[in-house]
Amino acid sequence: MIFYKTDDEIELLRLSNQLVAKTHGEIAKLIKPGVSTIKLDKVAEEFIRDNGGIPGFLNYGGFPNTLCISINEHVVHGLPSIRELKDGDIVSVDCGVLLNGYYGDSAYTYGVGDITHQDQQLLRITKESLYKGIENAIVGKRLGDVSYAIQEHVTRAGYSIVREMVGHGIGQKLHEDPQVPNYGKRGRGIKLLNGLVIAIEPMINMGAREIVQLEDGWTMATKDNKKSAHFEHTVAIHNGKADILSSFEFIEEVLNKNS
Ligand code: MG
Ligand code: MG
Repeated sequence: MIFYKTDDEIELLRLSNQLVAKTHGEIAKLIKPGVSTIKLDKVAEEFIRDNGGIPGFLNYGGFPNTLCISINEHVVHGLPSIRELKDGDIVSVDCGVLLNGYYGDSAYTYGVGDITHQDQQLLRITKESLYKGIENAIVGKRLGDVSYAIQEHVTRAGYSIVREMVGHGIGQKLHEDPQVPNYGKRGRGIKLLNGLVIAIEPMINMGAREIVQLEDGWTMATKDNKKSAHFEHTVAIHNGKADILSSFEFIEEVLNKNS
């Protein structure tokens, strides 16, 4: 069952997602060779709590941390650890927050130090595909139009789409209906109506689409060990249009300063 949100609820979801966005900005400052992923996790947890929020993923289904941190061939749900980021890695950081009873959810994949041209392209195409999906998250379209737009953009570049995991509705629960696949058919699926709030999150593999779960019981990785990228925004359909409630602006401020 889909819970359509009122304007007031959309503003609460915006606050939650803005806290996620600012947390990402704090993490962005620390992404460099030599930083351990558990350090990123601790900084995120402290920042979220200092701002009155609760880490949205911590204890969710038993997840032990604040951030999902997935390096290189890891797709999603990677566990923070003493592992240090290395020059040339790509790393997906997924952050969720619960604030005032509503969830925020957003992910960004970074290059660490100097990454190959190939990896830069994977990140660029995956991020672009997220925005292609968002362009279609408007009244008058259907959910399949969002999925199709993502699929079209990434398959054209020769990449493959993870199918086992998908985007989702979001609100008072982290995962609500509907599911938002990153592949699909134009004109199919539910009609997009005002008040629908969804997390759109393409998970895109450089090689084959197959994934496996690692022995830690959480991390999903590509079966062929090729790299994978993940970008996510929480988006409301609001006044007919796509209203992006999360934001990469704090991340990109940091990245632009460093470049
Ligand atoms: Mg997420
Ligand atoms: Mg999500």
